[in-house]
Amino acid sequence: MHISQRQLFFDHIAQTSDFPLALEIDKAEGVFLHAKNGERYFDMISGIAVSNVGHRHPDVLAAIQQQLDKYMHLMVYGEYIQSPQVLLAEALTRSLDLDCPHPSPYGPINSVYFTNSGTEAVEGAMKLAKRYTGRKEFVACRNAYHGATQGALSLSGAEFFRRNFRPLLPGIRQITHGSLPDLEKISCRTAAVVIEIVAGEAGVRIPEKGYFAALRQRCNDTGTLLIFDEIQTGFGRTGTFWAFEEVGVYPDILLSAKGMGGGMPIGAFMASQTLMAVFRNNPILGHITTFGGHPVSCAASLATLTVIKDNQLDEQANEKGALIKSLLVHPKIKEVRGKGLMLAAEMDSFEILKATIDLCIQKGVITDWFLFCDNAMRLAPPLTITVPQIHEAVQLIVDALNHPSLRS
Ligand code: PMP
Repeated sequence: MHISQRQLFFDHIAQTSDFPLALEIDKAEGVFLHAKNGERYFDMISGIAVSNVGHRHPDVLAAIQQQLDKYMHLMVYGEYIQSPQVLLAEALTRSLDLDCPHPSPYGPINSVYFTNSGTEAVEGAMKLAKRYTGRKEFVACRNAYHGATQGALSLSGAEFFRRNFRPLLPGIRQITHGSLPDLEKISCRTAAVVIEIVAGEAGVRIPEKGYFAALRQRCNDTGTLLIFDEIQTGFGRTGTFWAFEEVGVYPDILLSAKGMGGGMPIGAFMASQTLMAVFRNNPILGHITTFGGHPVSCAASLATLTVIKDNQLDEQANEKGALIKSLLVHPKIKEVRGKGLMLAAEMDSFEILKATIDLCIQKGVITDWFLFCDNAMRLAPPLTITVPQIHEAVQLIVDALNHPSLRS
């Protein structure tokens, strides 16, 4: 008896919700997903904020192929000199050699610890902050998402996500992203503040000008490390290669993942040598991973970084984001906010949004909502999307919004 892949998916793939999209994809290329049933979809969320250079970018494929011809896994992290790791770490360091009006007291970031994912980068950074400062407390934002492992989950800003997994880490204090009075909660007991420049899962929220400079100052005054989670914003998504460049405030530890691998799994936490050195002793092997910095992922990541830099895809994100904002005008859309190609289109309710997302899928456009904001449509297409493609995809979204079933 033939069992369909759809059936096998529901039978054997661990489900984390009762309503997965369950699209059966055959192939992906550029901004498009091609389904088994012959349908073509605009991937307007880059699955999610990952495919910044589009699906299967030729330069990324070539780098992967070249590395496959040399070696894959050789040894656990940090023992052998592996060219893809070294070259990527050097390129990342160069991307971080920036003059910021508000620098880090620890100097430029020049040491990279590669991980497999975003949440693992968060875990490593939390350990580094505890070990360097000797402190135990962390400050993170309400409605922030930093990952699903237990340390990162402890920082998560939504109680319904954490409640049934307690006990989690003690000593986490919450602040509101962008609130100046809340900075008082950062004290001489705080090991680090973990924060996004643009609060992604909260629905793409951008603080007032001056907030991050004040945060930097408060961290300096209290000896607290400042950790920027650029797992979603990094690699050109918000119009500069790193989102912190635009606010002019340099972190002590920087986190990356998602778009970093051009479709391959990789993450990193990065800091100055001064900070990172504490992992060498007491205990030796202060952080361990088997696969972190996989050579094939590193080769893909370096190609991704090069494609973004060489084509100024980060700058293009600003123009393309502005174009989407100018085209996505409809009575059902209250506001399109965001930076670069990290956008949220706010609607009146989850019901309207959900109906629109379903209609968009029928019309061949993939969008989404946010973990902690269920009345705004997530728009984060590949940075390589072309102007005609933007016109076509946005028109399809507008057509969905005009559908008779949405008339109130
Ligand atoms: N931080 C942020 C800001 C994220 O958006 C995410 C993923 N949505 C993570 C951390 C966790 O990354 P991962 O899913 O790779 O563990």
